[in-house]
Amino acid sequence: MTQLAREHQAINLAQGFPNFEPDKRLLEITSRIAADSVHQYMPSTGFPGLIARCREIVQKCYNRNLGAEEVLITAGATQAIFTAIQALVRRGDEVIILDPAYDCYDMPVNLIGGVPVHIELGHGFMPDWNAIRNRVSGKTRMIIINNPHNPSGAIWQKSDFENLESLCADFPNLVVLSDEVYEFIAFEPDHQSIHERPMLRERSVVISSFGKSLHITGWKVGYLVAPQHLIDPIKNVHQFLVFSVNSVAQHALEEYLADVDLQEIRNFYRAKRDKFRQLLHNTRFTALPCQGTYFQVASYANISSSRDVDFVRWLVSTKGVAAIPISVFNASGRDDKLIRFCFAKDDQTLEQAGERLQF
Ligand code: PMP
Repeated sequence: MTQLAREHQAINLAQGFPNFEPDKRLLEITSRIAADSVHQYMPSTGFPGLIARCREIVQKCYNRNLGAEEVLITAGATQAIFTAIQALVRRGDEVIILDPAYDCYDMPVNLIGGVPVHIELGHGFMPDWNAIRNRVSGKTRMIIINNPHNPSGAIWQKSDFENLESLCADFPNLVVLSDEVYEFIAFEPDHQSIHERPMLRERSVVISSFGKSLHITGWKVGYLVAPQHLIDPIKNVHQFLVFSVNSVAQHALEEYLADVDLQEIRNFYRAKRDKFRQLLHNTRFTALPCQGTYFQVASYANISSSRDVDFVRWLVSTKGVAAIPISVFNASGRDDKLIRFCFAKDDQTLEQAGERLQF
């Protein structure tokens, strides 16, 4: 879609990245630090100063005390996810993936001969716990969850955590891979984290990304948190996959994070969400609820009955707005006439897109 957006000089609301600059203070810190002696390898698990910041964040936001050895700095969430799957899943193990799902879960499972088991999310893109329970067995090694959820913007409720706890109690070998890269882009209800659930966190790998939280997707820096018995094999794979993550970025983030209110990020994006939903209100699209993330799902059922993949091709070429069809996030290709817009864009871009979508 990004290529098509370029070809048609369309407004690109397809791919999930901001089109505005990160905080100036971060840029100033980075250029100052880049002139310092910070250009050699970092320890494989990460710059100790940045690991300390990650522990502070998890303590402050979720009241979880972490040892330094329970944190691993990664080259973004994608590498964290790949590395965790590589380390913890064996040939023939089943891995539950809840569809529609972000596209970087399936392939790492396939590459090591694991078996992805796709289960559709239920009403409102919430987990269908009966369907999940029916499919989990002694062969299931991992369940991958993503909360707040890309592409739908749905947020888990307390009962979802309780259901997961009960499942984990019945299947003690089950590991949870919790992709929480949108943890600070949660509007309502508040984001609850695996970090806050003592029973779950002992068997979970929790994944965070500075790319999402600080508008620096291109930096590719994130971290994962897991108890010792899970993180040790992950660190072994990490050592031979990347060895260590970019030193300048780690130093800059360490200094920057000493004085950042991460909770402000959600106010920033809430204003964008409200603005974009207001703009959609003047169109024939129907906006679905958006509780978190910077994605807005909309139905075009009032406009067309074509397949979502065809609809977005038509939209980008004739109306000049690029979006992502939801069916591509479904292993089954299920098509509910829904598309995803990314509203992590400056106001002018959103307004222009809003005008183009009025037809
Ligand atoms: N998980 C989800 C749900 C995402 O949306 C993304 C980015 N689109 C990632 C992981 C990857 O994050 P990173 O850029 O830090 O690799």
